[in-house]
Amino acid sequence: MKPHDALSDPAFLALASDGVMTGATGSYEKLLGDLAGVYLDDDAYQEAVASFGAERLAYRVEVNQLDEGAGALIIGTSTVLPGRVGDEFAMTRGHLHVKADRAELYYCISGRGVMLMDTVAGDSRAIQMTPGEAVHVPGHWVHRSVNVGDEPLVTLFCYGADAGQDYQIIADAGGMVQLVVTDGQDGWTTTPNPRHVGYRGAAA
Ligand code: ZN
Repeated sequence: MKPHDALSDPAFLALASDGVMTGATGSYEKLLGDLAGVYLDDDAYQEAVASFGAERLAYRVEVNQLDEGAGALIIGTSTVLPGRVGDEFAMTRGHLHVKADRAELYYCISGRGVMLMDTVAGDSRAIQMTPGEAVHVPGHWVHRSVNVGDEPLVTLFCYGADAGQDYQIIADAGGMVQLVVTDGQDGWTTTPNPRHVGYRGAAA
């Protein structure tokens, strides 16, 4: 990345429906084997690892970042492959921004997704996104994206470059407040997560 006193050039980004972003400056992948403890049904998770392998791609992120610090943006695409572990739909690990007041935009490019969001006080929301729809996640909400369809869920995201990501807050809480599960037909619903013990930092 350029020195702090240099002026960045504008970037052109092209967003393909498969999540490939022309102009990306970085990318990372999460594999099935990286997601131990994320899903409620551990037996189903172990079965999935046994049948598909720990190296199976779970989701992929491409990012474009020009500058660091307050005021700069991280812009990227997230591609979550479809599937279920037990009753739960495939999802990202989720996080709270380390600078918790940092908001984030998620815009659905392809597929059918749910943005699952919690406050540390225990309020929980699930909002569906299909192509052309977006969710504005305010600051102070824990968030993860969930693929409730049968094709890859591709979203464009944009948030402050100084936000940071705290993944551990969800693990420490035993998962998020709600699970996004199959409704037994073609759709999704939410159900309370029996393992959730409350978020650290929540008022007693
Ligand atoms: Zn975020």
